[in-house]
Amino acid sequence: MNPKMITTMPDERGHFGEFGGRYVPEMLAPALDELAEAYEKWKNDEQFQQELNDLYRNYSGRPTPLYFAGNLSKQLGGAKIYLKQEGLGQTGAHKINHALGQALLAQKMGKQRIIAETGAGQHGLATATVAAKFGFDCTIYMGEVDVKRQATNVFWMRQLGAKVEVVTEGTKTLKDAVNAALKDWMWNVATTYFLLGSTVGPHPYPTIVRDFQSIVGVETKQQILEQEGRLPDYMIACVGGGSNSMGFFNAFLDETGVQLIGVEAGGKGIIPGGHAARFQGGRLGVVEGYKSYFLQDDDGQVMKTHSVSAGLDYAGVGPQLAYLQQQKRVQFVYATDNEVIEAFRRLARTEGILPALESAHAVAHAIKLAGQLPQDKIIAVNLSGRGDKDIFIVADYLNDQYWKDFCARYSEYGLSGEYDG
Ligand SMILES: *Cc1c(COP(=O)(O)O)cnc(C)c1O
Repeated sequence: MNPKMITTMPDERGHFGEFGGRYVPEMLAPALDELAEAYEKWKNDEQFQQELNDLYRNYSGRPTPLYFAGNLSKQLGGAKIYLKQEGLGQTGAHKINHALGQALLAQKMGKQRIIAETGAGQHGLATATVAAKFGFDCTIYMGEVDVKRQATNVFWMRQLGAKVEVVTEGTKTLKDAVNAALKDWMWNVATTYFLLGSTVGPHPYPTIVRDFQSIVGVETKQQILEQEGRLPDYMIACVGGGSNSMGFFNAFLDETGVQLIGVEAGGKGIIPGGHAARFQGGRLGVVEGYKSYFLQDDDGQVMKTHSVSAGLDYAGVGPQLAYLQQQKRVQFVYATDNEVIEAFRRLARTEGILPALESAHAVAHAIKLAGQLPQDKIIAVNLSGRGDKDIFIVADYLNDQYWKDFCARYSEYGLSGEYDG
């Protein structure tokens, strides 16, 4: 493949080969045109870049470290493993990168209000965070089922000043939240910016989100050159919609000596409804405004997905990643829930780092790969987030008795009596 082709992607209408594009109701076309125009105008503006870099640095805490996981590498006895620590930034995950970029863009466009849809709540949390920082009015649409499942994220969103709009239509999950948010946008487009949470959706979102995330790979390149004097042999990232992986990979697409690996959610294994690995049986389709691979049933209906990690539990995949897979530039593998929990515990015990369960998918594959490689090889892993948020899931999964006792006690008495004031 001609590397130049990739870096100039997508084409003017948002196509990455046959993927991507813009498939939306006519009423939304002017809003997307306005966004695409504004983005073209601001993305190379020096003032804009300066403000964004200042936010990355002083608000979010960039650059995040690239850490040599010496204990883990030694234990596995093979390749050297480096971890890009996105979990150390503001909000504890990479989502802040594209949330900040889009909030700054919204400000430049003169918008007063930000809306978003969220499933697991992590995107809602990042959006509510930047809305608070920029002083935007903020509404987050979330299905009723998800509101119940993700109470901690809902609580924090409200603390940050966002309004959480509970969607009770349809399946009461992400799909219905997307529809409700789009309806809001159609009515309020003059004042409102729709902040998208991954490299998905209609053009120009996959490009905008990728570009704002690219700082991760740019830093990684510089850091590995400083520490090792050369580029890594492998780069591994987990893949939900694709924002952390595209951000990690983008600066390396032309470096054909670097093998890029995306890790999908293998869930309970590759059985219908038991996973979210789109490259294991997903089919070409148009959903949520873009063309890509989606897990669909025989009638083309989007299927239920499952993953122990909320952030990878999604039926579609970003159009550029679909293209890069087709061109064999990015290889796709998956890790199962069990492997992920194992990787989580291993990283905790060897390095004292609690990875987000999403990121633990990438760690799981690095563990498999490193042992098969000689010691002079280098693997860079994107740790897209930290694991504090996953305390309920991990404790449940491990069926931890201490935790269960605590929850029972807590629901009965709260902490009163244990804390004095
Ligand atoms: C949301 C999330 C992901 C998955 O989304 P991508 O857009 O594929 O990056 C991965 N890791 C963390 C920590 C997340 O919060």
